[in-house]
Parts: sequence; structure tokens; C-alpha cells
Amino acid sequence: MQRQQTIIEESLKAIMEDEDFLPDLKAQTREQAYNSLVALLSTPNHIHKSFLRITTENGTIVRIPSFRVQHSDTVGPYKGGIRFHESVNEDEVSNLAKLMTLKNALHELPFGGGKGGVVINPKEYSIKELNLICKKYVQYFNDILGPDKDIPAPDVGTGEREMDWMMGEFKNIHPGEPYRNSFTGKSIVNGGSLGRRESTGKGVYYTFRYLMHDFVNEHRKWLGDTENIFAHTALDHADKKLKMAVQGFGNLGSVAALEAYQCNHLKNRVVAVSDANVMLYNSDGLDIPGLVQFAKEHGGDLPSTEQELNEHELVAEIKERDDLLELDVDVLILAALEDQIHKENMKDIQAKIIVEGANGPITEEADRYLADKGVLIVPDILANAGGVIVSYYEWVQGREAQFMTEDQVFEKLFDKLRETMDTILPQFFGDPFPLRQNCYIHSVTKLSTIMYRQGKLY
Ligand code: GLU
Repeated sequence: MQRQQTIIEESLKAIMEDEDFLPDLKAQTREQAYNSLVALLSTPNHIHKSFLRITTENGTIVRIPSFRVQHSDTVGPYKGGIRFHESVNEDEVSNLAKLMTLKNALHELPFGGGKGGVVINPKEYSIKELNLICKKYVQYFNDILGPDKDIPAPDVGTGEREMDWMMGEFKNIHPGEPYRNSFTGKSIVNGGSLGRRESTGKGVYYTFRYLMHDFVNEHRKWLGDTENIFAHTALDHADKKLKMAVQGFGNLGSVAALEAYQCNHLKNRVVAVSDANVMLYNSDGLDIPGLVQFAKEHGGDLPSTEQELNEHELVAEIKERDDLLELDVDVLILAALEDQIHKENMKDIQAKIIVEGANGPITEEADRYLADKGVLIVPDILANAGGVIVSYYEWVQGREAQFMTEDQVFEKLFDKLRETMDTILPQFFGDPFPLRQNCYIHSVTKLSTIMYRQGKLY
């Protein structure tokens, strides 16, 4: 399935109709240019795939499908995470690589887009086997990876540990060559950046807060003059407590929920969180720091029995995991996997604002339905770029061998997100079409201009 395709085509159409865009492009070639751009953006430059051959600890040989998709290097080296999940497939990795191209372009990062995937459930493998899988991945794909070629990072199912192992293997295969920036999201001792682990979750919440509070406060006068396109969103009652539900309690969801819990600017109440097993609900607001602590001590899982809740003095009702999406809340933060809101459940969504922490958590059909209904969707490429932005800072710090403090990293991260939003939001508040479309227009404008200047369009 070609995700994001319609919206890319609509965005390209919109920019091509603007005569001020690439005025040197001859009128008769504008249509050709449009067709070329559609072709260039809809397909990846390369799809690399292989079966990793591993001997498991019990002596069985298994062959694990794995991918590295390099979508675009128009802006710079390919950049994007490696996902370890049993649902990974070529189509999904290609779509995620395309999203990385759009995300990096949107935030003016000097990177193209790529993505990797390995079809495993990491929980079913021992540490030794996972280490072997990481090494094999680098052995199979090392030719196409490198600090100025293609720089992977963590994604679903991977983290610092895997990046450290992979960088170590890259170093073994390429002795004497620069290796530190071949991977980002590494541990601090291995050249990682302070703040990288929390960066995506913090960025997700910061994006939401900036949109709802800082930007609106600063521009209240101007916004008051325009038609209030948010009349039916929570913006008109931002001063009352916003009820929030967070789907997913991993590295992203738990950090975003904690930020919401601690935020003084907006009065949030996180009433529900979920993980792969359960949903926890408390209409008065959950004890998020208590839940974060519990998850830390229990392999990342939320409490799932009355006994566990009581033992840790946590007050919550245990409910069906997927019911979280349909709760009567103001804000939904989606921090799990893709395609969570789809044709079957889109009509039951009650939230007025949805923040996409995960990549592609809403199907195209549901996205249109909700946008038409007036739900404000803060798209993945805007909201969840904190990870890749701090990856960029890690890459720069590694090159300069100069490291920032955690406070400096977060300050720079928020500055970067603010810069992007200050470009996108005035355009969004001025034009009554979805925020996702505004972001895509910005990204494809940048990509098309660079392709034109590099002589790919003439
Ligand atoms: N996997 C993250 C993303 O989807 C981070 C990618 C990176 O740091 O390169 O944005």
C-alpha cells in the first residue's frame, strides 16, 4: 500500500500551480516536472534486503528477513531508524523511509530519508542472539552504511544497546575509517548525546504545548481576527483541564505522559495510558511518575493486576487495551504502532486533538474522515521529530568531538521545533486545510527546489 501518496501528490499539485514557485521552470514543462517529482518521491532510490543467517543458542539455523530502504538522498545522507518487530515488511519499511525524507526536510535537517527493519519479536531472542542479529545486519549492509552515506538510529524494538553493537561491528569491518557517526542513538560512553533517549517523547509533548499554548498566546490578537477554525477543538477551552489519553508506554509514550503530567503551562490530566497488555484509567488523573517507576522495575510493562496496583499504591481501573482510543477525552497521544485508527474505529473517536507520536498511526481514510470532522491532527513528521533532531546533534557532536550538556541539547531541540512551527503555523492558521498538508507542502517545496537546483528537473 502506498501511504502518504495522495497527500504528496496534492501538495506537489498545489506548489506547481503557484507561478512564483521555480519561475524559471518553463510553463510547458510544469506538468512534466510534476510527473517527475511524483516519480522521484513515490519510489525509494534503493531497497536492500537480505536474510540474516543466525545459529540460535539451541543450535537451530534461522534466516531472518531484513531490510534497509534508502528513499532519498536529495538533502544529505540517508537517515532513519532500524525497527525490530514481527510485523515489519518491505512495504512498511519503504513507507517509513519516505516519511523520514519528509520529516528531515520539514525540520531543515541536512539528511535524506531511510529506514531499516528486521522481522523478529526481540522478546523471543536471548541477548546473545540479538547481539548476533545486530552484527549480521551490519555485515550484510555495511557497504551501503556510513557516517556520510546512511546513518541508522533506534526505532521500535531497538535502542542504545543495539546501536552500540552495530557501531562496534561497523568499526571492526572498516578499521581506520571514521565510524562514530555511522549510527546515532548510541549510549553516552560510546559517543551518544545526552537527552537522545527522552528526545522523541519530550518533542511530542513540546510540539503539542507550543501549538496549544505558547503560539496561541503570542498570536492571540492575530488569531482572534481570523475565523476561529478551532471553534470545536479544545483550543477554546485551553484554560480548563484537558483530559488526555496516551496509547503506548514505551520510550515515547511514558516520556510524553510524564511531560504532560509535569507541565505548568497547560492543565492536563492524563486519565488513561496503555501498553501491549492493558489500559489503566483514572478519571481524576493517573499517577504518571508512579507508573513510570513501576515500568522501569518491570521490564517496561504497566501493572496489569489489582494486586500489582495495590502493592505499589497506584489507583486505577484496569480496562481493555484498545478501548483507550474511544475514550471521551480532549487529547489523544498515539505512541504505539501504525494504523491504530482506521476505518473500523474512526467513527468512535471522541478526542478533538490527536498527536501522532508514532509514525503513521492513522490510516489515510481515517485521517480524512477525522480532519473533515474538525479533529486537529498534529502529524508524525511534525510531532515526533525530536528523535532525529537530537540524532543530528549527536552526529554534529561526534564530528566535532565536543559534547553538549543535557540542558543545552533540550534547549536546542525546542528551538528547532519552534523554528519549524513558526514557519508552519501561521500558514496553517491562515488556511483552513489540515496541518499535515501544510507540513507536506513545506517538505515537498524544499525537496523540489533542491532537486531542481541539482539539475534533476529542468
Ligand atoms: N526512528 C526515529 C524516527 O522515526 C529516529 C530516527 C533517527 O534518529 O534517525 O524518527
